[in-house]
This record gives sequence, structure tokens and C-alpha cells, in this order.
Amino acid sequence: MTARPSYPHDPDLHVPGTSAASGRCSHHEDHPDDGPCTGEAVVSFQDSAGRWQSGCTTALQELVERGEIEPLGQGA
Ligand SMILES: [Zn+2]
Repeated sequence: MTARPSYPHDPDLHVPGTSAASGRCSHHEDHPDDGPCTGEAVVSFQDSAGRWQSGCTTALQELVERGEIEPLGQGA
């Protein structure tokens, strides 16, 4: 599995009107069991289906540990 790039959270990457676009964590909406959600998006990334998702610090840590996304700041 190749880790996908991660980017500092950017509302412009997300569909207007979604949680992600308004600065909330969309990862935990889809994966509520992935630890406690801080609610505040710090990272933007594409999921395995190519959809833009946002993640809080907990989501970022979980996904990096699983090798799903790169640590923030190490992408292109
Ligand atoms: Zn979260």
C-alpha cells in the first residue's frame, strides 16, 4: 500500500457545504470508531476512493500509523 499525500487542511479542496469545507473532521463521520475526534480538521487528503476528506489530529495520527497517508508536511 502506498501512503497518499496529505495537505494542511484547505476548505477549497472540499465540496462546498460539507463538514470538511467548514473545517470539521469528515474522517470521523465515516469512521466514528477511530479514536476520539477533536472535531477540528487539520489535514486534507484523498480517501481510497479518491474523495477529499478532512481529518482532525486523531485521524491524522491513525491514518499515518496505518500507512494510509503521509505525515503532514512530507508530501509534495
Ligand atoms: Zn476526527
